[in-house]
Amino acid sequence: MTRPMVDSHRRFLQTMMSNGIIDGSQAEALHKHCCEAAGVNYSQDRLDEFIEVINIHLQPMFMHIRKGMSEDDGLQYYALVNLAETDVTRMSSDYADNELELFRKIMDLVAESENGTASSTDILNCGDALLSKKLKKKETEQVLNKFVQNKWLTEKHGEYSLSTRCIMEMEQYMRTLYQDLIKNCHVCDIIAFQCQMCENPDCGIRMHLPCVARYFRGRSDPHCPACNEFWPHEIPEIHRPLASQSQPSSAKENTAPRSTPSTSQTRRSSRRL
Ligand SMILES: [Zn+2]
Ligand SMILES: [Zn+2]
Repeated sequence: MTRPMVDSHRRFLQTMMSNGIIDGSQAEALHKHCCEAAGVNYSQDRLDEFIEVINIHLQPMFMHIRKGMSEDDGLQYYALVNLAETDVTRMSSDYADNELELFRKIMDLVAESENGTASSTDILNCGDALLSKKLKKKETEQVLNKFVQNKWLTEKHGEYSLSTRCIMEMEQYMRTLYQDLIKNCHVCDIIAFQCQMCENPDCGIRMHLPCVARYFRGRSDPHCPACNEFWPHEIPEIHRPLASQSQPSSAKENTAPRSTPSTSQTRRSSRRL
């Protein structure tokens, strides 16, 4: 029998709807907060079970709270994803046609790259070659900022990559679109964009940077876990940003996230529910 959704679940869902995505420690703090506020039993190790109850009730609305991983720091995240709209049309109410075309081009660049990033120079060139309506350099920069603000892209030193939220929402779409270009991480079996690749052409496995760091920790002579060839890349060190560690205050209900989530997602979610 399906367990009913009670106030604690509803509170949790409300916060997911306004935030779009939260990290694992925020989800744990929010779980505790929602149970305590609703006066129901709280047990720390029951978060996934708790979310499963919400997910069963979200099914008819084609929504789902999905667990994923950040390619930057390897932290776990929870995102409210829309299963009905599987491609970039899910972004359509926030962006003009040429902006969506630019986003598709950025996805192409990322999927075709070896390390899961697209340089700002390449993206600016794409803006100048759009079929729908060209974007000037300044306009492309503004749209890029909007993609970052709405958590579709992340930017580091002029290199853009797909955000955790974007990968979690668009994974199926990208697998269909790019097929052989898309591979899973050899270590964690999650789709991998920002990664290192084995240079043996018969192998070519990929590993997320945090997974590389964890796998080769303490090994001075790293070899590919699949083919045993020498691993020629620099082993990254993963520094977890302090902000991503336990931060219960930002996991409280209706607290604004670190940056504003796409308003369309919130709007759409509210309408559907
Ligand atoms: Zn991995
Ligand atoms: Zn290999």
